[in-house]
Amino acid sequence: MLIRLSQLFFRTLREDPVDAEVASHRLLVRAGYIRRAAPGIYTWLPLGLRVLAKVEQVVREEMTAAGAQEVHFPALLPKEPYEATGRWTEYGPNIFRLKDRRGGDYLLAPTHEEMFTLLVKDLYSSYKDLPLTLFQIQTKYRDEARPRAGLIRGREFIMKDAYSFDVDDAGLEASYQAQRDAYQRIFDRLGLEYVIVAATSGAMGGSRSEEFLTPTAIGEDTFVRSPGGYAANVEAVTTVVPDAIPFDDAPAAHVEDTPDTPTIDTLVAVANERFARPDRPWTAADTLKNVVLALVHPSGERELLVVGLPGDREVDLKRLEAAVAPSEVEAAGDADFAPHPELVRGYLGPGVLGPNVPVAEGAERVAIRYLLDPRVVPGTRWITGANEHGKHVFDLVAGRDFTADGTVEAAEVRAGDPAPDGSGPLELARGIEIGHIFALGRKYAQALGLTVLDQNGKAQVVTMGSYGVGVTRVLAALAEANNDERGLAWPAHVAPAHVVVVATGKDPAVFEAADALATELSARGVEVLYDDRPGKVSPGVKFADAELLGVPLVVVVGRGLAEGVVEVRPRVGGSTEQVPVTEAADHVSALVTSLLTA
Ligand code: ATP
Ligand code: MG
Repeated sequence: MLIRLSQLFFRTLREDPVDAEVASHRLLVRAGYIRRAAPGIYTWLPLGLRVLAKVEQVVREEMTAAGAQEVHFPALLPKEPYEATGRWTEYGPNIFRLKDRRGGDYLLAPTHEEMFTLLVKDLYSSYKDLPLTLFQIQTKYRDEARPRAGLIRGREFIMKDAYSFDVDDAGLEASYQAQRDAYQRIFDRLGLEYVIVAATSGAMGGSRSEEFLTPTAIGEDTFVRSPGGYAANVEAVTTVVPDAIPFDDAPAAHVEDTPDTPTIDTLVAVANERFARPDRPWTAADTLKNVVLALVHPSGERELLVVGLPGDREVDLKRLEAAVAPSEVEAAGDADFAPHPELVRGYLGPGVLGPNVPVAEGAERVAIRYLLDPRVVPGTRWITGANEHGKHVFDLVAGRDFTADGTVEAAEVRAGDPAPDGSGPLELARGIEIGHIFALGRKYAQALGLTVLDQNGKAQVVTMGSYGVGVTRVLAALAEANNDERGLAWPAHVAPAHVVVVATGKDPAVFEAADALATELSARGVEVLYDDRPGKVSPGVKFADAELLGVPLVVVVGRGLAEGVVEVRPRVGGSTEQVPVTEAADHVSALVTSLLTA
């Protein structure tokens, strides 16, 4: 392959795009790989397409090696299958919906479980047809609330999605493992660092699920690790629940005046000032904070929810959202409080919430749903709101003085918290989700009637798995992990070319020699970008572009030619070598081979 930059459709930019917050976004735009078409929607330029094709090819090869077969579905789909599984509603505002001329409802698919299930149902009917794993590399659409960081969170993006079909649980386990292994090979081959973490299944349903995260400070996901090998997305971390405490000899709850204490800090200060206890001072951990939130259900319906948790912890909205999926969570506003005068802001306590509200006989309970952090076990004693302005109640005992509608994993996870499996204190880090594998079980097959006849001629509901890699997000993650102040620096096997040959100056002999070298390299199977732009493009501009583009080897044919040498330098690390022009093709192709086999 030989691409002449004088002919190539590309334009590099010296200035960062104003909307770009992260390096990958900035550099992919500046180097002429992508252009923004609309928020979260990008156009691919020739160089970008080359990298994309290479990433896709690695994914395709490993899927095929794992026994999956490639198919390709449309992005534009009718709503009926998604209605059958409930996802037409569950996805709420996250789906792009549209109507055809007859008024029929369609969507741009956010993921394809339904269609794969129906396709297999269409064609297969016996246990002998299974196991089966199918995949596609295809465009997905999600109307993300916050498209962000260029390709990392787009509204149109490319996903590799694979689906496995098995008759029994053991089969699903094997199919899941085969995909999991393939993912490891994909990310190993791409040279992308990854951590496999336990995950929640969210709106997808199913039993077991793991995410592949690439660690980076710009990641939107927080994950935890313990010294003993536990790793999980923070949303999947379960709290280590303390034992219940006997409360037979606990003092009765008592309401106290605590003027001007609408916050935990002010409350703790006043408690220590006026109600000091002999053994140790009160801290935020002694208070029960009740946080009012609004759940937005997929139907659009809004429901208030109060989460009670120790006052030294904040509610982590993403954890709560995972717990209440597919509903979304928002802070409660004035309009939410208005119809509920019983919610005294700053002094809210369990008394007016959930099952603690007395119900008149025969009447229906209308109280706001109240969920507790799992640490609030029976027997724990709290200072909490007395539901009256300027008053708090002390020694309010969980299980004796109040209960809740249930518990919820909504409190933030902190460094040092114990791992749920007893493997030590957790440490927190950030990452980008690049892949996600789910053991779905029978949810989709059940909803859509995918059964096969077993050995005894009995219909069995098929059990499924679903496995996604964010292909365009992986490309951005690679750009994010491989750049410096001068530009991109692709690993050789995904770079748009292996070598950029730069001809500098105006001397026709230089251009002839550079052309000959580029042609020779290309004939040997090296992928070459040849910067043959005429002499009015200065060497400085050409060097800056070569570095910005991020091709692994830069070969400069210029003034040195008079002495019979060209300059060869790696894009990162290593130093410039002067190589005799007669040996340049051998030397460079050997370097390329070693980069590709490294
Ligand atoms: P996220 O939590 O980041 O929104 P998700 O859990 O909704 O992602 P999945 O449904 O698991 O995503 O999709 C499979 C893969 O597709 C993800 O692991 C991710 O790599 C990729 N992906 C998901 N949403 C986007 C997006 N908006 N832009 C780019 N890639 C995405
Ligand atoms: Mg996911």
